[in-house]
Amino acid sequence: MLTVARAARRSRTPVALFYRGLATEGPYDTLVIGGGPGGYVAAIKSAQLGLKTACIEKRGSLGGTCLNVGCIPSKAMLNNSHIYHSAKHDFKKRGIDVSGIELNLETMLKAKDTSVTGLTKGIETLFKQNKVDYIKGTGSFVSANKVAVQLLDGGETEIEAKNIVIATGSEVTPFPGIEIDEKRVVSSTGALDLQKVPEKMLVIGGGIIGLELGSVWSRLGAEVTVVEFLGGIGGAGIDEEVSKQFQKLLQKQGIKFKLNTKVISADTSSDKVQVKVESAKGGSEETLDADVVLVAIGRRPYTKGLGLENIGVEVDQKGRVVVDDQFRTSAPGVSCIGDVTFGPMLAHKAEEEGIAIAEIIKHGHGHVNYNAIPSVVYTYPEVAWVGKTEQELKANGTAYKIGKFPFIANSRAKTNLETDGFVKFIVEKETDKVLGVHIIGPNAGEMIASAVLAIEYSASAEDIARTSHAHPTLSEAFKEAAMASYDKAIHC
Ligand SMILES: Cc1cc2nc3c(=O)[nH]c(=O)nc-3n(C[C@H](O)[C@H](O)[C@H](O)COP(=O)(O)OP(=O)(O)OC[C@H]3O[C@@H](n4cnc5c(N)ncnc54)[C@H](O)[C@@H]3O)c2cc1C
Repeated sequence: MLTVARAARRSRTPVALFYRGLATEGPYDTLVIGGGPGGYVAAIKSAQLGLKTACIEKRGSLGGTCLNVGCIPSKAMLNNSHIYHSAKHDFKKRGIDVSGIELNLETMLKAKDTSVTGLTKGIETLFKQNKVDYIKGTGSFVSANKVAVQLLDGGETEIEAKNIVIATGSEVTPFPGIEIDEKRVVSSTGALDLQKVPEKMLVIGGGIIGLELGSVWSRLGAEVTVVEFLGGIGGAGIDEEVSKQFQKLLQKQGIKFKLNTKVISADTSSDKVQVKVESAKGGSEETLDADVVLVAIGRRPYTKGLGLENIGVEVDQKGRVVVDDQFRTSAPGVSCIGDVTFGPMLAHKAEEEGIAIAEIIKHGHGHVNYNAIPSVVYTYPEVAWVGKTEQELKANGTAYKIGKFPFIANSRAKTNLETDGFVKFIVEKETDKVLGVHIIGPNAGEMIASAVLAIEYSASAEDIARTSHAHPTLSEAFKEAAMASYDKAIHC
């Protein structure tokens, strides 16, 4: 074990920080392991509540999967590929004649990297402003209140804390027997950094990440085929009616789908990757070739090297850290939030839990409403939902009513020449209470915020329908769908 001073020198971290944090001032109130949306938000909130806080991150930059290889770079590529595609295929009908539109992939990738660096550095600044000590290294439990850290720049140290929050996130789920080389067989990380547009891309998995990244490369010129084991796209929680419409719209854009289809193997020995697939029910084998195969079958909790066994923290069969309703693990003083535990693997879910855990540590109570966590697919058009689906309500026998409004009947959507999709309200039959809202259409990801508020405040559809929405806006479709669920819409 190095002395604190030597460790500080080796890691080029100010010795003052080490002495302040590690040696002279006694233990931290809160120590967070992992600097992703769950961990960094927990650390900032904890410090804002007056607790002496540190955050250990091994990646070398803050923001976790989301900022470094997830939400942010994917949205940068989605936005810029959409603009490129519109310039090529959509501008003309709007009276904008442009010629010589060329893709400069290198610059597009650089723009993505610039967004990532700006945001990850921004979190470092927030740490400084809020007086969170940032420790760059890999943490591993020695005991329930002590973590050994292998410092990124060499050396190691130990940190004590009264409360430790595990926020170590998730990693790509590998496909058994298919090796990811991040060049020809890629995970989402490799798919965000391809140096050339593949002629043919095969996406294994028709969930959110597969559809977003498939859309990016399809817009940039690749012939994209999505192979999905299930009978529909969009992953868990999507409304079946929305899923069907979504598939039709993506097909119109040129993406091909093979549903109810199982991938068996991928052979990389020739210049094309040969992917063997068969019907999910068995039989009728087929070989598809591709220049790049994207493995997007999901993510799994990440606890490698964390030393959970040293403190007896329980994990379930899927590797998720088991917690109670206050995020407490089976080890005293150790809690857990974000992708590494239960619930949807979403950045904003992790952030909510980050705030809640800091409040629990400080005040003894905190809360997350899991029924009011939205999901968004940032394709074109966007798809967004919150609350219950029809299939869930049917399964649990809840009586409900539906109100729908198509964007083709919305004045702003028509003006913008963006009329695909609809807003769908699902309300309780007796009371009109909003149970779920599902949107496919332009700006669905922004519009869903109103639905989340409605569910958070237990609003009825009538509350929304009697609230003035500016004209002409897409959000009038939201209001009219609410109206249609207990009465009749005006414009349709
Ligand atoms: C391509 C892609 C697109 C996505 N898009 C979206 C989106 O649009 N919206 C959305 O809500 N979600 C999106 N997600 C999911 C989102 O990124 C995650 O839900 C979110 O990052 C989870 O946050 P977290 O803090 O739990 O974990 P993470 O962000 O995974 O952060 C965990 C951090 O812990 C660090 N760590 C792990 N072990 C240790 C250790 N022992 N010591 C120190 N540090 C450690 C890791 O290096 C990592 O930085 C996307 C994911 C991907 C892959």
